[in-house]
Amino acid sequence: MSVSSVVIIGGGISGFSCARELRAGGFTGSLTIVDPEGLPYDRPPLSKELLTGEFATDDTLLAPASWYEDNDVAIVTDRADRIEPDTGRIVLESGDALQPDAIVLATGGSARRLAIPGGDLPGILTLRTKADSLALKERLVPGARVAIIGAGLIGAEVASTAAKNGCEVTLIDPAPIPLVPAVGPEIAEALHAMHAEHGITCFTGLPTEITHDGEAFAIDLDGAHDTEGKTMIAADVVLVAIGIDTYCPLAASAELEQEGGVLVDAGGRTSNERIWAIGDVARLRNEDGSLARRHEHWESAANDGKAAAASILGAELPKFGSSWFWSDRHGVHVEGIGLMSEPGTTVIREVEGRPQLAFRVADDGRVIGAVAIDGGMAVRAARRIIDRGKIVDPADLANPDIDVKKLAR
Ligand SMILES: Cc1cc2nc3c(=O)[nH]c(=O)nc-3n(C[C@H](O)[C@H](O)[C@H](O)COP(=O)(O)OP(=O)(O)OC[C@H]3O[C@@H](n4cnc5c(N)ncnc54)[C@H](O)[C@@H]3O)c2cc1C
Repeated sequence: MSVSSVVIIGGGISGFSCARELRAGGFTGSLTIVDPEGLPYDRPPLSKELLTGEFATDDTLLAPASWYEDNDVAIVTDRADRIEPDTGRIVLESGDALQPDAIVLATGGSARRLAIPGGDLPGILTLRTKADSLALKERLVPGARVAIIGAGLIGAEVASTAAKNGCEVTLIDPAPIPLVPAVGPEIAEALHAMHAEHGITCFTGLPTEITHDGEAFAIDLDGAHDTEGKTMIAADVVLVAIGIDTYCPLAASAELEQEGGVLVDAGGRTSNERIWAIGDVARLRNEDGSLARRHEHWESAANDGKAAAASILGAELPKFGSSWFWSDRHGVHVEGIGLMSEPGTTVIREVEGRPQLAFRVADDGRVIGAVAIDGGMAVRAARRIIDRGKIVDPADLANPDIDVKKLAR
C-alpha cells in the first residue's frame, strides 16, 4: 500500500514521536495530528514539575508551535468521534471528516474511575491531562486534607508533592506494599517507607463508598478498621490514581480487535490494514499469538511511534531493548528497566544500610531486571547487561564498590 497521507489521532508522546519519525524517515505526504488538546504535550510533568510549579504550562509542550510549521505537520484541535472500518473515513466531533491513506491511533487511555457508590461524585479528581494537573495543583494548599486512592507511581508522586506543600496526606492502597510487581519487594518497601517518613498516613484497604456532606468528602474503607469496624477518612481533596482504562471506543467503531488494548504487531499494525495503534492504547500480539504485557511508560510509547513510522514507510523495524521507566518522589529519583517479577532471585546492593539497587536474576543466571533509587547511571548500565543477556556473578552485582558500568563491559 502506498501511503501519501497520514492522520495521527492523539498528540501524546507516541503520536508526536510517530509524526517526527515519519518526517525524519523521508515521508513527504500530508501529515496531520488530531487532538482536542491542541499542541502535543508531555504527561510525566503533570505529576511532577507542572504540579510543583517548576514548569509553566508551555514547558510541557513536546515541541514549539514552529516545529509543526517547519515540518509541515497540521494540528487539528478536535476529537475523533468514529472511524468507518471499510473506508477509513474519520469523522470528527465537529462534523468534519478526514480520509487519509493511513490512520495511527495514539489515544492513550483514560484515568480509571472507582466503581463504588460515590466513586464519580463531582469534585473527585483524576490525573491524566494538563487541566487535571492544574486543577489538582490549585487544591494542594497547606492544611488541605488530601486523600489519594492508589499508591502506584502517580499516586506516590502526588502524595510527595502534597506533603511538601504542607497538606495532610492519606494514601490508600489495597496492597500493604504497593509497586512490588514493578520494582520488587525490597525497593518497593524502601520507597513505601518514605511516605511515613514524610508525614503521610498510609492505609491498606479498599474504598467501599465515598460521600460528600457539602463540606468535605468521607471515604469508607474496607480492610482497615477502627473500633466500630469501619474507617472513615475525611478529605477536602480526593484523587483517584488507580491506572488507566484502555478500552478505545474509536477502535471499536473501526471494528479493531481489542483485548486489554488494541491488538497490534511489532510495527503497530492493527487488524485493519490501514490502521496502526501505538502507545498506551496498544497491546502487542507476539508472533506466536500470545499477548504481551502493556507497559504504560513514556519510553515504550515513544518507541511505538518510531516502530509505526517505520512500518508505514515500509522500512525495517527498529529494535528496542527492555522497557525503562522513571519516577520521582520525596526528593529521590527512581529508575527501572526490564522485569522485576519474573521467576528468579533478587540481588540487592545496599548503600548505607538501605537497598539502593535491585537486580532480578533469572534461573539461568541472566540479569532480566534492575531498579535503583538515585542510581540512574547504574540502571542504564544494567540495561546493557540485560539487553545482551549477560551473566554476571551475583556477588559482583551486590558489591557497591564495583561500578555497574564495569560489569556491563
Ligand atoms: C501524570 C502522569 C505521569 C507520568 N509519569 C511517568 C513517568 O514518570 N515515567 C514514565 O515512564 N511514564 C510516565 N507516565 C506514563 C506516560 O506519560 C504514558 O505512558 C504516555 O503518555 C503514553 O503516551 P500515549 O501517546 O500513548 O498517550 P497519551 O500521552 O495519553 O496521549 C494520548 C492523546 O490522545 C488524545 N486523544 C484521546 N482520544 C482522542 C480522540 N478521540 N481524538 C483525538 N485525540 C484523542 C488525548 O487528548 C491525548 O492527548 C505518566 C503518565 C501520567 C498521566
